Amino acid sequence: MPAPTPLHETRQLGAWRIHALQAGGQRLDGGAMFGVVPKPLWERRIPADERNRIPLGMRCLLVEHPDGLVLIDTGVGDKEDAKFLDIYGIEASVPGHRTMLEAALVAAGFAPADVKVVINTHLHFDHAGGNTQRAEPAATGAPTPDAADAEPTFPNARYLVHAGEFAYATHTNERTAASYFTRNWVPLQRSGQLELVDGRSELLPGVRMRPTPGHTPHHQSIVLTSAGETAVFLGDLCPTAAHVPLPWIMGYDVEPLVTLESKRALWAEAETGGWLLVFEHDATTPWGVLTRGEKGIVLRAP
Ligand SMILES: [Zn+2]
Repeated sequence: MPAPTPLHETRQLGAWRIHALQAGGQRLDGGAMFGVVPKPLWERRIPADERNRIPLGMRCLLVEHPDGLVLIDTGVGDKEDAKFLDIYGIEASVPGHRTMLEAALVAAGFAPADVKVVINTHLHFDHAGGNTQRAEPAATGAPTPDAADAEPTFPNARYLVHAGEFAYATHTNERTAASYFTRNWVPLQRSGQLELVDGRSELLPGVRMRPTPGHTPHHQSIVLTSAGETAVFLGDLCPTAAHVPLPWIMGYDVEPLVTLESKRALWAEAETGGWLLVFEHDATTPWGVLTRGEKGIVLRAP
Protein backbone atom coordinates (compact mmCIF):
# COMPACT_ATOMS: atom_id res chain seq x y z
CA MET A 1 0.00 0.00 0.00
CA PRO A 2 1.71 3.21 -1.11
CA ALA A 3 1.66 6.32 1.06
CA PRO A 4 -1.10 8.84 0.42
CA THR A 5 -0.70 11.32 -2.42
CA PRO A 6 -0.50 14.12 -3.43
CA LEU A 7 2.40 15.56 -1.46
CA HIS A 8 0.83 18.99 -1.26
CA GLU A 9 -2.44 20.75 -1.98
CA THR A 10 -2.77 24.52 -1.94
CA ARG A 11 -5.68 26.91 -1.51
CA GLN A 12 -6.40 30.46 -0.43
CA LEU A 13 -7.66 31.43 3.03
CA GLY A 14 -8.53 35.13 2.92
CA ALA A 15 -5.27 36.90 2.14
CA TRP A 16 -3.07 33.86 2.90
CA ARG A 17 -2.01 30.86 0.89
CA ILE A 18 -2.23 27.63 2.85
CA HIS A 19 -0.72 24.28 1.91
CA ALA A 20 -1.79 20.84 3.11
CA LEU A 21 1.51 18.89 3.27
CA GLN A 22 1.43 15.11 3.37
CA ALA A 23 3.97 13.83 5.92
CA GLY A 24 3.28 10.15 5.38
CA GLY A 25 0.97 7.19 5.44
CA GLN A 26 0.01 5.25 8.54
CA ARG A 27 -2.12 2.15 9.10
CA LEU A 28 -3.91 1.81 12.42
CA ASP A 29 -6.43 -0.66 13.79
CA GLY A 30 -9.86 0.28 12.43
CA GLY A 31 -11.59 -0.63 15.68
CA ALA A 32 -9.28 1.63 17.70
CA MET A 33 -9.79 4.46 15.22
CA PHE A 34 -13.58 4.35 15.54
CA GLY A 35 -14.08 3.53 19.23
CA VAL A 36 -17.60 2.27 19.92
CA VAL A 37 -18.78 2.50 16.30
CA PRO A 38 -19.46 -1.06 15.00
CA LYS A 39 -17.27 -2.32 12.15
CA PRO A 40 -20.19 -2.83 9.72
CA LEU A 41 -20.71 0.94 9.90
CA TRP A 42 -17.12 2.20 9.78
CA GLU A 43 -15.87 -0.20 7.10
CA ARG A 44 -18.35 1.34 4.67
CA ARG A 45 -16.45 4.61 5.10
CA ILE A 46 -12.86 3.28 5.25
CA PRO A 47 -12.32 -0.41 4.34
CA ALA A 48 -9.82 -2.35 6.47
CA ASP A 49 -6.90 -4.50 5.27
CA GLU A 50 -6.33 -8.16 6.21
CA ARG A 51 -4.85 -7.07 9.57
CA ASN A 52 -7.95 -4.93 10.28
CA ARG A 53 -5.97 -1.73 9.74
CA ILE A 54 -7.20 1.33 7.86
CA PRO A 55 -5.08 3.67 5.71
CA LEU A 56 -4.46 7.12 7.16
CA GLY A 57 -2.41 10.19 6.29
CA MET A 58 -0.28 12.44 8.51
CA ARG A 59 -1.14 15.81 7.07
CA CYS A 60 0.47 19.03 8.27
CA LEU A 61 -0.61 22.57 7.40
CA LEU A 62 1.77 25.25 6.12
CA VAL A 63 0.56 28.86 6.28
CA GLU A 64 2.14 31.71 4.33
CA HIS A 65 1.59 34.17 7.17
CA PRO A 66 2.76 37.81 6.81
CA ASP A 67 5.00 37.33 9.89
CA GLY A 68 6.68 34.27 8.37
CA LEU A 69 6.04 30.69 7.44
CA VAL A 70 3.96 28.77 10.00
CA LEU A 71 3.87 24.95 10.15
CA ILE A 72 1.20 23.13 12.16
CA ASP A 73 2.25 19.64 13.29
CA THR A 74 5.25 17.81 11.85
CA GLY A 75 4.37 14.15 11.17
CA VAL A 76 6.44 11.26 12.51
CA GLY A 77 9.96 12.39 11.49
CA ASP A 78 12.95 10.20 10.59
CA LYS A 79 14.00 8.80 13.97
CA GLU A 80 11.88 5.66 14.45
CA ASP A 81 13.27 2.18 13.86
CA ALA A 82 12.08 -0.52 11.44
CA LYS A 83 10.02 -2.44 14.02
CA PHE A 84 8.15 0.72 15.03
CA LEU A 85 7.48 1.67 11.41
CA ASP A 86 6.06 -1.81 10.76
CA ILE A 87 3.80 -1.85 13.84
CA TYR A 88 2.19 1.46 12.88
CA GLY A 89 2.32 0.84 9.12
CA ILE A 90 4.26 4.05 8.60
CA GLU A 91 5.50 5.11 5.15
CA ALA A 92 7.08 8.52 5.67
CA SER A 93 10.26 8.41 3.59
CA VAL A 94 10.95 9.75 0.12
CA PRO A 95 14.26 9.05 -1.66
CA GLY A 96 16.49 12.13 -1.65
CA HIS A 97 14.78 13.70 1.37
CA ARG A 98 14.96 13.26 5.15
CA THR A 99 11.20 12.76 5.32
CA MET A 100 8.05 12.95 3.24
CA LEU A 101 7.25 16.21 5.05
CA GLU A 102 10.51 17.70 3.81
CA ALA A 103 9.69 16.51 0.27
CA ALA A 104 6.23 18.10 0.51
CA LEU A 105 7.69 21.36 1.86
CA VAL A 106 10.14 21.49 -1.06
CA ALA A 107 7.34 20.64 -3.52
CA ALA A 108 5.43 23.66 -2.13
CA GLY A 109 8.47 25.84 -2.83
CA PHE A 110 10.12 26.07 0.60
CA ALA A 111 12.93 24.59 2.73
CA PRO A 112 13.05 23.64 6.43
CA ALA A 113 15.16 26.73 7.21
CA ASP A 114 12.29 28.95 5.93
CA VAL A 115 9.87 27.88 8.66
CA LYS A 116 9.58 30.57 11.36
CA VAL A 117 6.95 29.08 13.66
CA VAL A 118 6.02 25.46 14.41
CA ILE A 119 2.82 24.80 16.35
CA ASN A 120 1.95 21.36 17.78
CA THR A 121 -1.69 20.36 18.40
CA HIS A 122 -0.29 17.88 20.93
CA LEU A 123 2.94 15.91 21.37
CA HIS A 124 1.97 12.41 20.19
CA PHE A 125 4.72 10.93 18.00
CA ASP A 126 2.71 11.16 14.77
CA HIS A 127 2.15 14.91 15.29
CA ALA A 128 5.44 16.05 16.84
CA GLY A 129 7.92 13.40 15.65
CA GLY A 130 9.09 15.66 12.84
CA ASN A 131 9.91 18.45 15.30
CA THR A 132 13.37 16.91 15.48
CA GLN A 133 15.55 14.73 13.29
CA ARG A 134 18.57 12.47 13.54
CA ALA A 135 21.73 14.54 14.01
CA GLU A 136 23.45 11.94 11.84
CA PRO A 137 21.31 11.01 8.79
CA ALA A 138 20.72 7.26 8.51
CA ALA A 139 18.79 4.80 6.37
CA THR A 140 15.03 4.58 6.99
CA GLY A 141 14.35 2.34 9.96
CA ALA A 142 17.87 2.49 11.46
CA PRO A 143 18.02 2.12 15.28
CA THR A 144 16.29 5.03 17.01
CA PRO A 145 18.64 7.70 18.38
CA ASP A 146 18.49 9.07 21.93
CA ALA A 147 17.29 12.64 22.47
CA ALA A 148 20.97 13.60 22.74
CA ASP A 149 21.51 12.45 19.14
CA ALA A 150 18.58 14.40 17.66
CA GLU A 151 18.41 18.04 16.59
CA PRO A 152 15.67 20.55 15.65
CA THR A 153 14.38 19.95 12.11
CA PHE A 154 13.57 23.63 11.63
CA PRO A 155 16.67 25.56 12.76
CA ASN A 156 15.10 29.03 12.54
CA ALA A 157 11.70 28.27 14.07
CA ARG A 158 10.08 28.98 17.40
CA TYR A 159 8.19 25.87 18.48
CA LEU A 160 4.92 26.61 20.29
CA VAL A 161 3.44 23.90 22.53
CA HIS A 162 0.61 24.18 25.04
CA ALA A 163 2.00 24.17 28.59
CA GLY A 164 -0.65 21.72 29.82
CA GLU A 165 0.06 19.28 26.99
CA PHE A 166 3.79 19.53 27.72
CA ALA A 167 3.19 18.68 31.39
CA TYR A 168 0.99 15.73 30.34
CA ALA A 169 3.61 14.48 27.86
CA THR A 170 6.36 14.62 30.46
CA HIS A 171 4.35 12.86 33.22
CA THR A 172 3.16 9.70 31.49
CA ASN A 173 1.49 6.58 32.84
CA GLU A 174 1.27 3.02 31.52
CA ARG A 175 -1.42 3.90 28.96
CA THR A 176 0.00 7.19 27.66
CA ALA A 177 3.75 6.47 27.61
CA ALA A 178 3.77 4.68 24.23
CA SER A 179 2.83 7.93 22.42
CA TYR A 180 5.25 10.40 24.01
CA PHE A 181 9.01 10.37 23.32
CA THR A 182 11.44 12.90 24.84
CA ARG A 183 13.49 12.86 21.62
CA ASN A 184 10.67 14.86 20.00
CA TRP A 185 11.11 17.91 22.26
CA VAL A 186 14.29 17.72 24.41
CA PRO A 187 16.49 18.92 21.51
CA LEU A 188 14.20 22.00 21.24
CA GLN A 189 14.67 22.76 24.94
CA ARG A 190 18.43 22.39 24.49
CA SER A 191 18.48 24.87 21.58
CA GLY A 192 16.14 27.32 23.33
CA GLN A 193 13.50 26.98 20.57
CA LEU A 194 10.68 25.52 22.68
CA GLU A 195 8.06 27.99 24.00
CA LEU A 196 5.23 26.84 26.24
CA VAL A 197 2.01 28.80 25.72
CA ASP A 198 -1.52 28.96 27.12
CA GLY A 199 -4.64 27.95 25.23
CA ARG A 200 -6.81 30.58 23.53
CA SER A 201 -3.83 32.89 23.27
CA GLU A 202 -3.33 34.56 19.89
CA LEU A 203 0.03 33.20 18.77
CA LEU A 204 0.34 35.48 15.73
CA PRO A 205 -2.22 37.87 14.25
CA GLY A 206 -5.10 35.65 13.11
CA VAL A 207 -3.56 32.44 14.53
CA ARG A 208 -4.78 31.05 17.83
CA MET A 209 -5.01 27.83 19.77
CA ARG A 210 -8.46 26.59 20.64
CA PRO A 211 -8.56 24.06 23.47
CA THR A 212 -10.31 20.92 22.19
CA PRO A 213 -9.71 18.50 25.05
CA GLY A 214 -10.63 14.81 25.03
CA HIS A 215 -8.05 13.08 22.83
CA THR A 216 -5.60 14.39 25.44
CA PRO A 217 -6.58 16.73 28.32
CA HIS A 218 -4.91 19.74 26.67
CA HIS A 219 -5.26 18.91 22.99
CA GLN A 220 -5.41 22.09 20.85
CA SER A 221 -7.00 22.74 17.47
CA ILE A 222 -5.51 25.67 15.58
CA VAL A 223 -7.85 28.38 14.29
CA LEU A 224 -6.69 30.60 11.42
CA THR A 225 -8.54 33.74 10.33
CA SER A 226 -7.62 35.97 7.41
CA ALA A 227 -9.75 38.63 5.72
CA GLY A 228 -12.98 37.24 7.12
CA GLU A 229 -12.28 33.58 6.28
CA THR A 230 -11.61 30.98 8.96
CA ALA A 231 -10.01 27.53 8.88
CA VAL A 232 -9.46 25.12 11.75
CA PHE A 233 -6.74 22.49 11.82
CA LEU A 234 -8.49 19.81 13.84
CA GLY A 235 -5.57 17.62 14.89
CA ASP A 236 -6.94 14.51 16.61
CA LEU A 237 -10.28 16.10 17.60
CA CYS A 238 -11.63 14.69 14.33
CA PRO A 239 -8.88 12.78 12.50
CA THR A 240 -10.69 11.98 9.23
CA ALA A 241 -13.76 13.10 7.30
CA ALA A 242 -15.41 9.83 8.42
CA HIS A 243 -15.23 11.09 12.04
CA VAL A 244 -17.53 14.10 11.44
CA PRO A 245 -20.62 12.52 13.14
CA LEU A 246 -20.49 13.45 16.84
CA PRO A 247 -20.25 9.90 18.34
CA TRP A 248 -17.57 8.73 15.87
CA ILE A 249 -14.71 9.17 18.35
CA MET A 250 -11.39 7.33 18.50
CA GLY A 251 -10.77 4.60 21.08
CA TYR A 252 -7.37 6.22 21.62
CA ASP A 253 -8.94 9.28 23.28
CA VAL A 254 -8.28 9.46 27.02
CA GLU A 255 -11.59 11.25 27.69
CA PRO A 256 -14.02 10.41 24.87
CA LEU A 257 -17.03 12.16 26.43
CA VAL A 258 -14.94 15.33 26.68
CA THR A 259 -14.07 14.92 22.98
CA LEU A 260 -17.81 14.74 22.29
CA GLU A 261 -18.41 18.14 23.90
CA SER A 262 -15.31 19.71 22.28
CA LYS A 263 -16.60 18.55 18.92
CA ARG A 264 -20.19 19.63 19.54
CA ALA A 265 -19.10 23.18 20.45
CA LEU A 266 -16.65 23.48 17.56
CA TRP A 267 -19.11 22.08 14.99
CA ALA A 268 -21.72 24.67 16.02
CA GLU A 269 -19.30 27.54 15.42
CA ALA A 270 -17.80 26.02 12.29
CA GLU A 271 -21.20 25.41 10.69
CA THR A 272 -22.43 28.93 11.45
CA GLY A 273 -19.19 30.54 10.31
CA GLY A 274 -18.65 28.36 7.24
CA TRP A 275 -15.20 27.40 8.56
CA LEU A 276 -12.84 25.26 6.50
CA LEU A 277 -12.08 22.06 8.43
CA VAL A 278 -8.62 20.57 7.87
CA PHE A 279 -8.23 16.82 8.52
CA GLU A 280 -4.81 15.63 9.67
CA HIS A 281 -5.22 11.86 9.27
CA ASP A 282 -7.60 11.50 6.32
CA ALA A 283 -5.73 9.60 3.57
CA THR A 284 -7.50 11.40 0.73
CA THR A 285 -9.59 14.39 1.94
CA PRO A 286 -7.57 17.38 3.17
CA TRP A 287 -10.47 19.70 3.93
CA GLY A 288 -14.19 20.33 3.80
CA VAL A 289 -17.03 22.51 5.08
CA LEU A 290 -19.94 21.47 7.33
CA THR A 291 -23.44 21.70 5.97
CA ARG A 292 -26.89 20.58 7.17
CA GLY A 293 -28.10 17.43 5.41
CA GLU A 294 -31.34 15.45 5.80
CA LYS A 295 -29.79 13.26 8.51
CA GLY A 296 -27.94 16.05 10.30
CA ILE A 297 -24.56 17.61 9.81
CA VAL A 298 -22.45 16.42 6.84
CA LEU A 299 -19.33 17.46 5.04
CA ARG A 300 -19.16 19.05 1.60
CA ALA A 301 -16.18 19.96 -0.57
CA PRO A 302 -15.04 23.57 0.02
ZN1 LIG B 1 -2.86 11.93 19.01
